[in-house]
Amino acid sequence: MALSGLDIYKLLPKTNCRECGFVTCLAFAMQLAKKAVSLDKCPYLSEESKRALEASSLPPIRLVIIGEGDSKLEIGNETVLFRHEEKFHHPTGIGFIIDDNLSDSQIKKKLETINNLRFERVGQQLNVNLVAIRQNKDKARFIEVVKLVSKETPLCLVLMSQDIEAQRETLSFLFQKRPLIYHATSQNLNLMAELVKDYKLPLVVTEPDLEKMDKLTRELNKQGLENLVLDTGNKSIAKKLWDLTQIRRQALKKSNRALGYPTLVIVEDPDPYKEAIEAGSYILKYASIILMQNVESWQVLALLTLRQNIYTDPQKPLQIEPKLYPVGQATDKSPLLVTTNFSLTYYTVLQEVESSKVPSYILSVDTEGMSVLTAWAAEKFTPDKIVQAMNKSGVNNIVSHNRLIIPGYVAVMSGDLQEQSGWQVIVGPKEAAGIPAFLKNL
Ligand code: SF4
Repeated sequence: MALSGLDIYKLLPKTNCRECGFVTCLAFAMQLAKKAVSLDKCPYLSEESKRALEASSLPPIRLVIIGEGDSKLEIGNETVLFRHEEKFHHPTGIGFIIDDNLSDSQIKKKLETINNLRFERVGQQLNVNLVAIRQNKDKARFIEVVKLVSKETPLCLVLMSQDIEAQRETLSFLFQKRPLIYHATSQNLNLMAELVKDYKLPLVVTEPDLEKMDKLTRELNKQGLENLVLDTGNKSIAKKLWDLTQIRRQALKKSNRALGYPTLVIVEDPDPYKEAIEAGSYILKYASIILMQNVESWQVLALLTLRQNIYTDPQKPLQIEPKLYPVGQATDKSPLLVTTNFSLTYYTVLQEVESSKVPSYILSVDTEGMSVLTAWAAEKFTPDKIVQAMNKSGVNNIVSHNRLIIPGYVAVMSGDLQEQSGWQVIVGPKEAAGIPAFLKNL
């Protein structure tokens, strides 16, 4: 946990020798608390103080990196229990299990589906992150399937095998892809530690009991392993949520570094609805990785949408660049609609304008990412702001008419806007769903 300036001061020599460039040790401590200077500026720190200060500057939940290149996945490094306190930083990695007892053609088909699980929502690309290969057959088959999968997908890999030799042979050709190794238990701890140590690979530690988990991670730390991911095994949803919450609380509120690691859960239900509901619960609290079995696109889209919402900064709504956007083959005769720059609002309006098949312009006004009514109530979507946006966009040189369509919810501003802009103001529908019919009849 981060220390205050006074806590840090207690650990300093208090001689005010000025060698750090500050007049007093207290002044140095205050700067250290703000992370404005580095610890090595004081040459007189005892080893014990140095250790305590270094530990306090580490994140309470370790950042673990899986994979490499553009598709690498960063998990952990979270700092709060509730997103309204600050924000959640590293979105849950979503992955799919491929069993090595499937045929090659079944594996290729499933991989093709997984690779195509990409969506665009409110201007952002949403995609899945991992493929986990699980051993059910012999070593040779596992290695064969790992080779097949790694050739066919750019996603991060998880190697699920208790066969140390199979893992070792696989890593001899795959270690540069930084796969996640699944998993160390109390039975194979030293063997797994030995396996990942040389390559510094991330390792899943599985233990149903949190006190025992605490001991296992401390043991692995003694062996120099820090890239750990915690898994409390197969349990009911309620028990799993309890574990995930306790792990997060222990790391953030009790500064328990032994549990300060990202987490992994496996969700396998033949019913894709139940699987999606269970996985969604773990996205909310507090899974860093979810591995599942089904690959239905409706199921994955729901999870990716939930993830996008949970990992958006609650203090900074998703917004688009405020400017004039042509839709379709817009000409100088095309209608002009005005809305806010809140992504969800803009993309909803855009979708409806596109479906009307009437080429148009949408003027997005800078409302700091607020939706229409919120922005109007906060005086961010006013006649004055709309006129400013019109002038900035140069729309009067782009269209040859002077008709402006405003959302029905802010009909009340039409008189003022007409007066200030000199344009004819037309009140559009209240809901975006009314736009296609409105534009066709305009
Ligand atoms: S160098 Fe160390 S002991 Fe000297 S003033 Fe700075 S903090 Fe204090």
